[in-house]
Amino acid sequence: MTEVFSEENRLIVLRTGLNQPDGMLLRSVLEAQDIYAFLANENVAGMNEGLYANLMVYAHDLERANAALQKVATMPRCAIPVRRDEDGEEIACRHCGSERVHPFEGVVPTIIPGVKITTRKGEAWYHCLQCDSYFKNSLSRLASIPVALMWGGALAGLTLFVIWVIEFLRWL
Ligand SMILES: [Zn+2]
Repeated sequence: MTEVFSEENRLIVLRTGLNQPDGMLLRSVLEAQDIYAFLANENVAGMNEGLYANLMVYAHDLERANAALQKVATMPRCAIPVRRDEDGEEIACRHCGSERVHPFEGVVPTIIPGVKITTRKGEAWYHCLQCDSYFKNSLSRLASIPVALMWGGALAGLTLFVIWVIEFLRWL
């Protein structure tokens, strides 16, 4: 059977230029109201910057879909400044993956109630506008390769020292 584009199965673009999380959010809003929605380019939009997803619905659902999304606004992707780290990668929230983040300087709440830390200049702290969390966009100083090599060296040295002590005691 050949596919015929009739009024029944015609797809209409409802929103364009969506990033993947926004597209999925809108789709779930529609699906919650039993409106079938299709996110064209969903995976591409998730992988590549500059590529966006389009939200499509059946023509006969258009009126209901418009009504359902009337109160849902998404920020145009171009309105979010893209921030990059030193490696040229987009800075995204550590907690929700959103790129809607901005540099933050000031007092950051921690998971321990009542305990707050003040950010220092040069520390790359960011605040996420999507989930309202704070994160530091730098690798932990205890997780870098030089530190790992240093630890390896220190432990090797300790082992050699222990062997030397044992040999020394045997010699006595
Ligand atoms: Zn977030």
